[in-house]
Amino acid sequence: MKKFVKILAVVMIVALSATLLFACGGQEDTGREKLIMGTNAAFPPYEYYEGDKIVGIDAEVGALIAEKLDMDFEILDMDFNGIISAVQNGVVDIGMAGMTVREDRLEHVNFSTTYAKGVQVVIVKEGSDIKTLDDLAGKLIGVQEATTGDAYASEDYGEENVKRYTNGAAAVAALQSDIVNAVIIDNEPAKAFVAANEGLTILETAYADEDYAIAVAKENTELLEKINTALAELTADGSIDAIVNKYIPA
Ligand code: GLN
Repeated sequence: MKKFVKILAVVMIVALSATLLFACGGQEDTGREKLIMGTNAAFPPYEYYEGDKIVGIDAEVGALIAEKLDMDFEILDMDFNGIISAVQNGVVDIGMAGMTVREDRLEHVNFSTTYAKGVQVVIVKEGSDIKTLDDLAGKLIGVQEATTGDAYASEDYGEENVKRYTNGAAAVAALQSDIVNAVIIDNEPAKAFVAANEGLTILETAYADEDYAIAVAKENTELLEKINTALAELTADGSIDAIVNKYIPA
């Protein structure tokens, strides 16, 4: 019986290694450490799918940071709501998801220096009677669960008027099918969703300005320092600007 268990264990390990190898697209083992980034890839132009590949500003900046750190790089796609705990539990090394630095998040993770700015905006259908932020009162607002848009909408218009979705694309789809009357989301994804879908528009009045940064586990201070150094270098040599300009043409 013991022998059987041993054999079973070996078979499982072999199977697991094969799966891991397969999951890495058959990449050979470079012997280097790997930097794993957790994100929610429904947030263009920061992270989204092009075919089966996750691309975008965060994906590219993350890859450059890994390169600077002489590490391999992998992206794990998950609900935005799960990213902070994935960082805390070590499922991923960094959380990079157009993530706003917030006091309540700082209780759970550390943030790198900021590498981008965001603004919360409101998307409505063209011709909607919602013209200003005040008009949102009593309307049903779609948000991405656990985002700053969720927090603002819930605080300012009441929980009962907020409908939460696991990602921005789902919230926008709900707006298109008139399930919600508006969506509060970051400005660049808002622009991308409006460009990709007929009949949507962004209100001129915007919500608060925000800073995006990379989330790192509290105890992982060495990694945080390395990331900050890498970010400073990538800012100084224009790499980050070049990536941003590629995805957000002026
Ligand atoms: N910037 C927002 C936040 O951090 C939304 C991020 C996202 O949905 N990926 O809450």
